[in-house]
Amino acid sequence: MSAPLLLIVEDEAAIRELVAFVCEAEGFRTSRAGSIAEARAAYAAERPDLVLLDRMLPDRSGLDWLKELRSSPATAKLPVILLTARGDESDRVTGLDAGADDYIVKPFLPRELAARVRAVLRRHDSGTAAAPQAEETENVIVCGPLRLNEARFEATADGVPLKLSAKEFKLLTLFAARPGRVFSRANLLDQVWPSAFVDERTVDVHMLRLRKALAGTAAEDLIETVRGVGYRCRDVNQQTGSGE
Ligand code: CA
Repeated sequence: MSAPLLLIVEDEAAIRELVAFVCEAEGFRTSRAGSIAEARAAYAAERPDLVLLDRMLPDRSGLDWLKELRSSPATAKLPVILLTARGDESDRVTGLDAGADDYIVKPFLPRELAARVRAVLRRHDSGTAAAPQAEETENVIVCGPLRLNEARFEATADGVPLKLSAKEFKLLTLFAARPGRVFSRANLLDQVWPSAFVDERTVDVHMLRLRKALAGTAAEDLIETVRGVGYRCRDVNQQTGSGE
C-alpha cells in the first residue's frame, strides 16, 4: 500500500513548497499545481487521494473547480481541503457550502495541516467503507419535531429528511439528546472535534451551517444561541403546545 497522494494547488511557490514539505514529512506523497489548468492535468494523470486547494488562483477560482468536481459523479466525493486567507469568515462558509471537506486558514501551523489532512482522509475512508450494516443497535433520539437515527445517519424534522454533514449531524445529536442544556463552544469542540486542531470559530461556522440546514423545516427555531455562553436546543418538553 502506498502513501496517500495529495495534490497541492497553490500559485504562491513558497506556500506550495511549504505545504509539500510538511505533507511529505508526515509521510504523504505530493503532487503540485500552480493553476487550475495544471490541477486538472495533474488530477487526470495521477488521481490524487486528496486535494489541497487554494481559493485564489491565476486562471480561475479554486471554488469554481471545486463546484465542478462536486458536480461530477467520479469526483463528487474526492476529499478537498480549501486553503483560505485569514479572517474571512464568509470565505470559509462559501467554501464549505461549495462542498469542501474542510478549510485551512493561511498561515497555518504544520501540525494543524497534517492533522486536518489525516482527519479528512479518515472520514472519507470510513465513509466509503461503511457498507450496509445489518444488525446494529439503532439509537433514535426524538426531540420535538426532530428524529435522529445515529446508526443510519438519518435526521428528519416532522418526517422531512434533513441534509446534514457529519459534523452538523453530530452537533444536532448532542443538542437533541439534552434539550435545555447549554453547550459552550469549548464543550462542543471537545465532543465534535476531539482530535483536530481547530478553534472555536469552527464551531460558529458549523452552527451557522446547521441553522441553514434547519431553516424552513419544522425544527427551524429549535437551536438557540445563549449569548456569551454557547448554544442549546430549546427545551421542547417544557412547552405547552402552541400550535398554529
Ligand atoms: Ca493564491
